[in-house]
Parts: sequence; C-alpha cells; structure tokens
Amino acid sequence: MRQDTRVAPQNPFYLSLAFKLSLSIFLITSVLLSSLGIYYIKKVADEIDRNLYLQAQIPGRLMNEGALSPAQVRDREMLSHLVGEEVLLAVLIQSDGKVLYSTDPEIEDLRLEEFHQRVEEPKAAVTSEGSAVVYRRQAGNGYLHVSTPIHSEDGWSGNLYMKVSADNAGQKKTQSARDFIAGFSLCIVLTTAFGAWLIHLMTVPRLGDIGRCLKAVEQGDLEVRVACAKSQDELGVLGRGVNRMVGELARQRAEQESLDAELKLAKEDAEKASRSKSEFLANMSHEIRTPMNGVLGMAQLMADTELQPEQREYIETISASADNLLKIINNILDLSRIETGKFQLSVETADICAMLNELHAFFTPSVKEKGLELKVDCPEDLPLVRADEGSLRQVLINLMANAVKFTQKGCIHVAVESLEQTGGECTLSFRVSDTGIGISKEAQKIIFQEFTQVDGSHTRQHGGSGLGLAISKKMVEQLGGSLCVSSEPGEGTVFAFNITVDMEREETDSADTSKKEIQKTFNCSVLLAEDNRLNQRVVCKMLEKMGCCVDVAENGEEALKQLKLALPPEERPSYDIIFMDIQMPVLDGLQATTMIRAQEGGDHRIPIVAITAHAMKGDREKFIEAGLDAYLSKPIRSEELAATLVQFC
Ligand code: ADP
Repeated sequence: MRQDTRVAPQNPFYLSLAFKLSLSIFLITSVLLSSLGIYYIKKVADEIDRNLYLQAQIPGRLMNEGALSPAQVRDREMLSHLVGEEVLLAVLIQSDGKVLYSTDPEIEDLRLEEFHQRVEEPKAAVTSEGSAVVYRRQAGNGYLHVSTPIHSEDGWSGNLYMKVSADNAGQKKTQSARDFIAGFSLCIVLTTAFGAWLIHLMTVPRLGDIGRCLKAVEQGDLEVRVACAKSQDELGVLGRGVNRMVGELARQRAEQESLDAELKLAKEDAEKASRSKSEFLANMSHEIRTPMNGVLGMAQLMADTELQPEQREYIETISASADNLLKIINNILDLSRIETGKFQLSVETADICAMLNELHAFFTPSVKEKGLELKVDCPEDLPLVRADEGSLRQVLINLMANAVKFTQKGCIHVAVESLEQTGGECTLSFRVSDTGIGISKEAQKIIFQEFTQVDGSHTRQHGGSGLGLAISKKMVEQLGGSLCVSSEPGEGTVFAFNITVDMEREETDSADTSKKEIQKTFNCSVLLAEDNRLNQRVVCKMLEKMGCCVDVAENGEEALKQLKLALPPEERPSYDIIFMDIQMPVLDGLQATTMIRAQEGGDHRIPIVAITAHAMKGDREKFIEAGLDAYLSKPIRSEELAATLVQFC
C-alpha cells in the first residue's frame, strides 16, 4: 500500500544548494567586477590628470607660438580660463634667472635665488640647463606645478612656471569613481540575481523531486520514482540512480516478504512437529509408564512375599531392569521438557549433605563391585538451601554414574563446598572427579550434545544413550550454573559446576524432619478410579497393605455413581480420599473431578489426587483448575502413596 509521502519541513533556504551556488556567483562576480572597477577608476583618474597637465601647458605653447605676449602672464584670470583650472601663480623666468613677469607683482624682478626662497618647489620649476621640464607634483585635490620652456629666435629664453589648482580634476575623479561603483554594484546585483534565478530554475524542482522520492522510500513506500530522470546531466544520472536503487529495494523487499512467509510457514511446521513430538512423548510415557507401573508394583509386592533365593534374584533383576527402563524414559521426557521450555524448577528445602549421603549409599554397591573407592566430601556446616533437589540429584546421579561407568580402577570423588555466603544467598560448588579413561580435547567439544558418545562404535564397552550429559548441562543451566569438564585421556575426568541458591531459614528444619517420618498404617476409606486392571491391582494391594479399605471404579462415570452425590451428604458413602486416573474411557479424570466438585457441596469436599503418566508443564495448573488437590506420577511407589495419605487423611 502506498504510504503517506508528505515531506517533512525543508531545511532553511540559506542551507540549500541553490543558495550556496548563488552566493558563489555573488562572490565571484564581486571580486571580478570590483577589480575591473578599480582598474577603470584608476585609468579615468590618470586620463583626467593627463588632460589637466596638457591644459596647463597651453599658455606656454601659445607664448612660444607668439599668440600670447610675455606681459599677459600677469593676467591670472585669462590663464585660468586657458587652463580650465584656477591658476594660483604664474611666473615667467628668464634664462638668466631673473623673474620677468608674474601674477604676483611682488615676485617680479626677483633673482632666481630669491624667487626660490619665496615660492615652494622652485627648483623643479626651472632648470639651469634650460631644457623643457614639466614637473607634476600632485594631482587630484592638490596642485599641479608646470614649467614650460619658452623659446625665442635666439633659442631658449626662459620658463613659464605655473602653480595650478587641481580641484576640478579631483571632483571629476570622485564623480567618475562614484559612477563606476554604482554601475558595477548594479552589475553585481543583477548578475547574482539572474544567476540565482537560473540555478533555482535548474536545480530546485529536480532536487526537490529526488528528495521527496527518498523521503517516501524512508517511510517505506517503494512504489515512488523520481519523475525528472531523463536528462543527461548529473541530476538526471542521480535521478536514474535513485530509481534503480528504489527498484532494487522493492525487489529485495518482495523477496524478503516471500522468504518471511516461507520461514513463517516453516516455523509453524517446526512448531507443529515439536508439538507433535511432545504429544508423542507424553503419550509414549503414558503407554510405557502404565505397564511399567504394573511391572514395578508387582515386583515390589512379590519381593515382600516369601521367595526362594533364586526367585528373589529374578525379581530383583526385573526391578533393576524396569528401573533402568524408567530412567531412559524419564531422560527422554526431561530432554523434551527442557527443549520445549516446559521444564519447571521445583524449589524446596534441600539438605545437600543428606542428598550426597544418599547418593553415596546408592552408588556404594556398584562402586564396590568394580573394586573402586567412593569419597563424598560435604562440609558439616553446609546450610540447608532452597533448591530444586530433584534436578540437582539427577545431575549428580548422571555424573556419578558416568564416573563409575568409565573408571576401572582408582577413586571417584564427589565434593561440594560453599564458596560464598552473602545476604541470604550461598554459592555452592560441585565437583565429580574420577581416575577413569578420561576424555580427549576433541571429544570434550561434543560430549554435551544429545545422543553423543565418545565411543560410538558397535563394539563399545559401555552402554548408555548419550543423553545424560546433554540433560545435565541443560539442567545445570536451568539451575543458574554452567557445567564444565576438564580431563586428560588416561588420567581421569572432572565435571564441575557452581550454582547460587537461597539459604533456608533455621526454623523449617524441624518441620522438614518430621515430614520425613512417614506413617506406614492408615485406616482410610479410598475410592480408586482406574481403568487399567493391572494398575488397579497394584495400587489396591499397596493401599490395602497400608490398612486402607479400597473401592474401585472403572472410569470417571462409575466413580461418580459410587460417590452417590445426588443423596444428602449423610447418606453418601464416606470416602477419605479419591485416587483418580486422568486418562480413562467414558469420562476422564479431569471431567469427573470437575463434576464431583460441582455436585459435592462446599462442606463435604473430598481430597482428590490425580494418578497420571503425564508429567508435562501446565498439567499441574490444569489439575488444580479442575479441582484436583495433588498428583502422583506413574509408576506409583508405596512411599509416595503413604506420603499422600499422611497429607490428606
Ligand atoms: P552416556 O549415556 O553414553 O553415558 P552421556 O551423555 O552421559 O551419555 O556421556 C556422553 C559420553 O561422554 C559418554 O559416552 C562418554 O564417552 C563420555 N563421558 C562422560 N562422562 C565420562 C567420564 N567420567 N569419563 C570418561 N568419559 C566420559
């Protein structure tokens, strides 16, 4: 769409190119015409001086021609008339140096020396040789001294000296200078004005057109073009250049727009694919966790019965394999959660030393089996902190499991220390080091990538999915740290990271320990809504072993029926808690919960705990919105069930 092409206010005229060019014309014309003027003024002044000088010689010439008698030298008025200027003094001096006639009678008959004493510049007026000398002392407003030689039949007889006023000549010069100045000034003004008009005519409309075009382009209009771009001069070339540039920009924008559209589509496709992947992973986790729940639960129940040693070994292998399988599923789920930004830290009170002791106990059998040593160092005064213990534990398990896996002899050392404690915060440094096979510098660059193993061959000695470090690195980043490795092949490896966490206030300590003492026997009435027969049996058995009385509903609708919510509260069966599977046929867990909450009445609220294989971000909010009080992830473990019963019954 064509946009608003109105141009912002122009620059002031004195900044425009036309003004600058006009100013240049003015300066050049001024300099040239002024020089010319000065030259002509001087020339005219010289001409006036020369005329005056010629005029002043007229009486002498007339005397030489006999047209003027020597005695007429006394007639100053006549002489002035002949010269055209006022004659101030005229003196006829004989060749022997005696003053014969003069306009001043006092000078007559004086000797030359006396005359010299009376009259200024007398020496210049008469020369002893008698040659004709004309001496012009000063023109303009001063005087002119003229000495004309007078000849008789016998040769040189003397000089006619005259002192002539130059007032008229001076006035003429002033007048002519004024005329010149006025004329040249007019020329300068006219030339400048005409030049400015021409420049304006030739440049302003065309430059304005180019400027308007560029302004419109700046505002995003690429349809606009410079109209006057046909001429062969520089402005024509500029206009064509601008048009080409705008055309190219329009082409690039069209390309960019189509690229953007393609990218948008590709992004939508990728997001769709990523969503599908997440959904697929969630579904897969449900599908795998449900039978796993059965396998693990049944194995756990069977382990509690009387068994032959051989049978116990089998059952332990089943449990271990199922646990491993669960770890892989959890890893894949974690990765997908982190990648899709659905990973959420669950910050709670964490006792790091207790956790490390648990890990020590957990890894001791495998470490012993390989003949290794396991050392865990935790300072006694390490404070309780607020951290996502689950993620921290998972990172340490990954690193320690790798250390055990890739070490054949020597020691595995896990250490934590508090680097800094300020303002309720504390920076913890974790190190997991081993004396194993080590990792080369090249391999160190790739081990944090997903599904990457240093030994990826089919003949590799160590199992693994290549996910552990990728997840650990991302989890440490979520915790606010950065996981780094230092290693030498054959020498061993150190993985380390620092995280800054809040310190827990002291009083929660006792509350936390009391929470850990989980009750084992309950006298609760439980409604279990679960469609999967295997899971029904597992959860039922676990609850019954804890002393609970369990009713089972096959789906949400049946659960509603069993609750008999239409009856008055006193006549309804009294359940202490409902365990509600989320995915069920006919009426799923969320719908059933919403309906129960709508019908039960505020005073008779039964705790409802979801049982789900879904553990994706956003589920918790969905569950709470539907009216659920808590949720347990499949596979369900009896300790978790017991903890839930402690909380709600
Ligand atoms: P895996 O499940 O294969 O162990 P990880 O992501 O945990 O995947 O590790 C990736 C690779 O990094 C491993 O296959 C191994 O080659 C190397 N690696 C990790 N930890 C160590 C270690 N402590 N010592 C030697 N190599 C290690």
